[in-house]
Amino acid sequence: MRYCNRCVIPDTRPNIEIGADGVCNACRAHLERKAIDWPGREGAFRQVVARAKSRSKGYNCLIPVSGGKDSTWQVVTCLEYGLKPLCVTWKTPARTEIGRQNLQNLINLGVDHIDYQVSPAVERKFMYKALVRKGSTGIPMHMALFNIPLAIAVRFDIPLVVWGENSAFEYGGTEDERTGFRLDADWMKKYGVTNGTAAGDWIDSDLTEKELTPYFGPTDQELAAKGINAVFLGYYFPWDVQTSLKVAIAHGFKISDNPKTGYYAFADIDDDFISIHHYIKWHKFGFTRLFDNLSLEIRNGRLTRDQAVGIIRQRGDDTPIEDIKKFCQFAGITLEHFFEICERFRNKDVWRKQGGKWVIPGFLIPDWSWR
Ligand SMILES: [Zn+2]
Repeated sequence: MRYCNRCVIPDTRPNIEIGADGVCNACRAHLERKAIDWPGREGAFRQVVARAKSRSKGYNCLIPVSGGKDSTWQVVTCLEYGLKPLCVTWKTPARTEIGRQNLQNLINLGVDHIDYQVSPAVERKFMYKALVRKGSTGIPMHMALFNIPLAIAVRFDIPLVVWGENSAFEYGGTEDERTGFRLDADWMKKYGVTNGTAAGDWIDSDLTEKELTPYFGPTDQELAAKGINAVFLGYYFPWDVQTSLKVAIAHGFKISDNPKTGYYAFADIDDDFISIHHYIKWHKFGFTRLFDNLSLEIRNGRLTRDQAVGIIRQRGDDTPIEDIKKFCQFAGITLEHFFEICERFRNKDVWRKQGGKWVIPGFLIPDWSWR
């Protein structure tokens, strides 16, 4: 296991490559951002806005929103550019009270909104299957939150879908984002955080095609015929967690007192189950959400690498036990069963058993106390 010598990300993280100079592709992409012509990109966004306005009768754009700080920033930005948006939320089965308040605040900014909830009976089955088969409870969530907005855009003839930051491009993506692109089946498989699966792959005797309806997006042909394009605002504006947070707070967004998972007290606070999706990365790749967040802080010059290592040392492996208990109750399984499933995904290329304990040879912190 190798770590980037600028941030704290290991090369076991999907999409991360560490170069001969010891620097990861995410750090490299971040350094290259300094050379970006931001006024030029803002001009490109104006063209995207003009195109959407000329091609729509009703809503100019659709904004997928969770109620988090980035969705507030997306809505504020679209309204500033005179767009008439329809906002769409995939409603997590574990919405928090602060998430509910922030979502209502976002709607009160002056937008129409659809709260789309999948039957908990279906979501329960799907999340459990995703956990057992792929070690990821986040697959149904990602499938729903990409496909539901696209399906609604097709129905309402909305030519533009406006996303926030595209995490794929954090690693230096190559697609031409300038005028927007199709979030088609290929894109979804590669970047949609669904372990390369689509809804059709999950049909079985226990989970029918009909039950999985919300997880099927429009076909590539439908998207092409309607000319629906997606853009990521992070391409046009210098997105950073702290700047989008500032904009969101100025427009009524509330933050939590404590981080739910990772380093930020304002991230992932709208959903009690997101922490579980992040948690299993510890078994699979030997890092936690904290490593991602701290690496972003290092890249933005707000923390040194030594400070980040100190925070990881202090926080430990960050097991979100309260959320795990809630999830087990939702899925109808015991805690023992949950941890037994996680154990099946412990990556033996990363972990080794030593003196009866699982340890990561070459871990970032050599004197880590393994449990
Ligand atoms: Zn790095």
